[in-house]
Amino acid sequence: MDKPLVVITGASSGIGEATARAFAKAGHPLLLLARRLARMEAMDIPNSLCRKVDVRDRDAIEAAIRDAESQYGPTDCLLNNAGIARLADIGAQSPNEWDEMIDINTKGVMNALHPVMGGMKDRRHGTIVMMSSIAGRKVYPDHTVYCGTKYFVHAVSESIRGYLAPYDVRVIVISPGIIETEVLDHVTDPNTLKNYKDNKVRIGGGISADHVADMILFAYQMPQNVLIQEMCVTPTRQEH
Ligand code: NDP
Repeated sequence: MDKPLVVITGASSGIGEATARAFAKAGHPLLLLARRLARMEAMDIPNSLCRKVDVRDRDAIEAAIRDAESQYGPTDCLLNNAGIARLADIGAQSPNEWDEMIDINTKGVMNALHPVMGGMKDRRHGTIVMMSSIAGRKVYPDHTVYCGTKYFVHAVSESIRGYLAPYDVRVIVISPGIIETEVLDHVTDPNTLKNYKDNKVRIGGGISADHVADMILFAYQMPQNVLIQEMCVTPTRQEH
């Protein structure tokens, strides 16, 4: 196996799935992590391990990564992508939805970072791709806690970028606008969902996750001494 291992969290749909396909096409062995194992296995990607892992389970992530590394060698790229968006009127939203977003989008991100960061630092090689959002750069109505979690991703990314730069390890932030995925499927506030969908129709729809995947692969394939620090991508008509 001449290409190094790429680990993707949230690989069962959307941006994670599209990126898995793009990296597989580029010849990388993959570790795919998410809760819906059948969805990942159905992708039928050669040289890949699929593991049913909830990113809230730090030990399970670490075990899956060690397993994949024993087969494919050290992790050279992590796409830290798993996330949820329970958008809602903050005054009416159940705090249980706050907890879920905070646990998955912040602690889950740290859980995936932990097992790969030390090895990359030791080898003085590696790339960590952090999935934020345009909602990690500015706030939107009904995005309160979601924005909080994505601002967290931005802050942690900037901090670890500085920490890892002397070791030639790259930290890339991806900040998408509206991408056509399943991310809004679990929104429980009907008014929030209606406003989001109306806005999407107004701007002519979201864009394909394949474009985000291509951007991630492009940034990864640049020479190791070239760091694209952040990529912000939106539909052309998404003005905010
Ligand atoms: P999807 O809902 O299609 O994908 C989300 C992925 O995260 C799924 O594979 C899901 O897998 C996984 N996931 C969710 N919770 C957990 C968990 N507890 N443990 C493990 N995996 C989990 O949406 P997207 O592809 O859009 O979302 C990917 C990332 O992109 C998210 O971080 C999202 O915030 C971000 N993003 C998306 C935008 C968009 O418009 N689509 C815009 C900006 C950012 P499973 O349910 O099988 O566990």
